[in-house]
Amino acid sequence: MKGYEETGRLRGFRCRHCGLVTATWGLACSRCGSAELEEHELATAGKVVAFTILHVPGDEFLNEAPYAYVVVELDGGGRITGWMPSVRAEADLTLGERVHFAASYKPGVQFAKDGTASASG
Ligand SMILES: [Zn+2]
Repeated sequence: MKGYEETGRLRGFRCRHCGLVTATWGLACSRCGSAELEEHELATAGKVVAFTILHVPGDEFLNEAPYAYVVVELDGGGRITGWMPSVRAEADLTLGERVHFAASYKPGVQFAKDGTASASG
């Protein structure tokens, strides 16, 4: 996944047949089964559709816990998983809340709430 987020963009795929946008590569479109998938630049903003607070992180995130592991439905299509270091408790985030991709030197796809700076640490 090197290069996935380093330019501040999110890469995904779009089905040439039905137009489905997905953040996850597959051999065929999950909706129509077409194998004609092309690279597509995803929107960098969307809304939270699922999240959980992680208190016991992997090694890469050891200094960040607790933080939120989120599933974001991007504007224009595609769902992507990421994390939000600014969210440390369930009360800090609401389903449907607007977030945006925050480019970071840290691993993974980091999101921040709209209206907040993408400062880290
Ligand atoms: Zn399709």
